[in-house]
Amino acid sequence: MDPLKLQALRTRYAEGGAFDATDPVLRTAIRQVQRPDGRRTLPYAGVPTFLGLPAASGIQDLDVAVIGVPMDLGVSNRPGARFGPRAVRTIERIGPYHPTLRGVPQAHVRAADVGDVPFRSRYSLEQSLEDIESYYALLAPGKVRPLSVGGDHSVTYPILKALGKERPVGLVHIDAHCDTMGAYDGSKFHHGGPFRLAVLDGVLDPERTIQIGIRGSSNMFWEFSHASGMRVVYMEEWLQKGWAEVAALTREVVGAGPIYVSVDVDGFDPAYAPGTGTPEVGGLTPREVQALLRSLAGLDIVGADVVEVAPQYDPTTNTAQLAAQILFEEFALMALGGSES
Ligand code: MN
Ligand code: MN
Repeated sequence: MDPLKLQALRTRYAEGGAFDATDPVLRTAIRQVQRPDGRRTLPYAGVPTFLGLPAASGIQDLDVAVIGVPMDLGVSNRPGARFGPRAVRTIERIGPYHPTLRGVPQAHVRAADVGDVPFRSRYSLEQSLEDIESYYALLAPGKVRPLSVGGDHSVTYPILKALGKERPVGLVHIDAHCDTMGAYDGSKFHHGGPFRLAVLDGVLDPERTIQIGIRGSSNMFWEFSHASGMRVVYMEEWLQKGWAEVAALTREVVGAGPIYVSVDVDGFDPAYAPGTGTPEVGGLTPREVQALLRSLAGLDIVGADVVEVAPQYDPTTNTAQLAAQILFEEFALMALGGSES
């Protein structure tokens, strides 16, 4: 190495601190996350909240409310997603800087962890869905954007009922399953059918809905998706097209207008997300879904969720790590992605 170059590096960096970046975007980000005392917060200490956001008791005056929905009475197989919100809250070192949207989401919006949906009883699926709907109805439409952590996927139906009441929303749905099944065993409210119910209630626009990652033996149940005009991207098509082509297709399908993003962790391959109730082999990789989600910047995302994290089947915490990162991707889209509509 040229000794003069080495001397210049020594002069510039020998006494440098962690917060000394010169790039203006990074300088701004660092200023936004730096503590006044110059220290860094311990990621493993303190009372855990989603993404390390401040805890708030109310949703008033927020732009983004992160909400836990600890309810899994709708599962068809292995239970446990009621423990999802707590598992995701304990994951730290997610954010606060987003590397491709190049900013600190929480510096751009008022965001907080507002705790969990209050349930009247732990025993009734139907009543729990009513409780979720009435809680989300408190969010002034278009003002507070909810970022939710389930719970099983049945929770997305009452969320859509609240968000799509004035105007049906479009949907970007990552999952191994279309979740448009009809009733069986005496219930239509299970986690295999929220998007059918939402379409039939007029709160979800099937023609602005894309379902990605679909696979497995449940494929025999998805007639409603096709009959209603949803765009279903089975794994075979995903493998042929790749994430970039599917990302372009996604933008084409959802178009302009309000969009909800729903990510079931079983859309990922169980190698990455074993901690879930209904795993299906042959799934998406985290980097592919990250790339797809990041390409949605600019769309009008009025709400998003991550569901079906069941930590007792998650011995390495990988599933919770992935869910927290996806939650952060959704948050970044809301806060930094901007809206073209
Ligand atoms: Mn699902
Ligand atoms: Mn699923």
